[in-house]
Amino acid sequence: MLRINIQTLDKVMHENKLFRRTRLSLAGWYVMVMGVILSVCSLGFYEAILHAHRVTIDRELQSVGTTIHDSLGTVLEQPAQVTLAATRILPDFCLVETSCDATQEDIEAVPETENYYLRLLDSSKKLIAVAGLRPKGLQLTTPVSQLKTLTVNGKRYRQISLMLHTQDGSQWGYLLVGRSLQDFDEYMLTVAYTILFGLPMGILSIAGASWWLSKKAMRPIYLSYRQIQQFTADAAHELRTPLAAIRANVESTLMLPKLTEAEARETLEIMGRQNQRLSQMVADLLILCRMDSGMEKLPQKQECICLNDLVTDIAEELAFLAVAAQVKLVSEIIVSQNVKVMGNTEQLYRLVSNLVVNAIHYTLPEGEVKLTLEVNANFALIHVKDTGVGILEKEQKRIFERFYRVNSDRSRQTGGSGLGLSIALAIAQCHQGNINVKSQPGQGSTFTLKLPLSMGYRQ
Ligand code: ADP
Repeated sequence: MLRINIQTLDKVMHENKLFRRTRLSLAGWYVMVMGVILSVCSLGFYEAILHAHRVTIDRELQSVGTTIHDSLGTVLEQPAQVTLAATRILPDFCLVETSCDATQEDIEAVPETENYYLRLLDSSKKLIAVAGLRPKGLQLTTPVSQLKTLTVNGKRYRQISLMLHTQDGSQWGYLLVGRSLQDFDEYMLTVAYTILFGLPMGILSIAGASWWLSKKAMRPIYLSYRQIQQFTADAAHELRTPLAAIRANVESTLMLPKLTEAEARETLEIMGRQNQRLSQMVADLLILCRMDSGMEKLPQKQECICLNDLVTDIAEELAFLAVAAQVKLVSEIIVSQNVKVMGNTEQLYRLVSNLVVNAIHYTLPEGEVKLTLEVNANFALIHVKDTGVGILEKEQKRIFERFYRVNSDRSRQTGGSGLGLSIALAIAQCHQGNINVKSQPGQGSTFTLKLPLSMGYRQ
């Protein structure tokens, strides 16, 4: 695994052209999508406010118009004649022919009718009286009972027109009730400006956030990209060593003027050994790749495995290796019944042998390697304990990394390439298990494999 702090990771990721471009396009798309969403929402918000205010104004206008219309209907006597009682109903009332200038614009009106105007027309649509605002040049006719928006000199008015009748029911004329929309237009303009200025600010904040988020999203991708790079470099490096040894041997043999049988045999033996090392490494790499891609996952090959047999077989089969290394290999099964787990026999055999072979390799002559099987709760535990060289605490976290070796010279002598424990861990994890290590430098190590018991054997 790659050990790199976040700042350095961000820096090297930024320096990588491909990742920089991908991050930019990710952030760009995000800003674009969010920008469109935000704009649509702002438009919707504006429309909602506009609609709500329009509806309120119309209702207000209708209610004022109907109230005045109903009140006038009870006091009007002669068509086109305004009674005294009628003048009292209307605030700021004035008759066009006698007392006021109907075209005088925006005279100071009573506060309640600040934005309103009233107009009384006779049946021939001639202006009889006005009240409230006096907008200049405003159209006099509108279809009866309809709301209409009128524009004069850039100012907008909303108006309702109602037909007036005298007390006896004959037609008196028309009542026009209107309202200036200036305050409403000003308010909507403020809302529009707020949106227009707020939107770019919002998009700018989104751009900043998306740049930051895209960095966060790219980190794990970049990390695995670096791991693959590292893995390829390590694999190439490991493969190069035996290949170089083979080439050097072939070249030096070819340079000999005359080749004796013994020399030819020696060269072939070296080549055979290196070839064996290469084949092993390629096989290991293949297993790891398959496990990574999920091809080597268990379900297809699951079987019930008796760990008692597995431990005994491994102890017997590796006895010769222990004898050659002058190490005592013992096995102990601390359970009376058979311990069974579900999994792949070949893979579990490989896992436990890797641990035992390592223990033998890293134990000095006269040392001891002990293989123990026990059960704890619903788990089978296999301990591989040695009295060997031990592992420093900081190295204990790294020995499961691919190609990692604590002491590469010694490890190479044992034929190891640093893949054994990563394969062992991958196998354990495929079996829903785990491996942990406890070690004291100079005193020895204990590797513990924990596997879930098969259902029928759980306590
Ligand atoms: P290798 O094939 O090189 O042994 P492994 O992945 O099996 O690679 O082990 C990684 C490293 O862990 C080894 O290089 C060795 O230094 C250390 N190691 C593994 N097992 C033991 C052990 N039982 N005692 C001490 N060190 C060990």
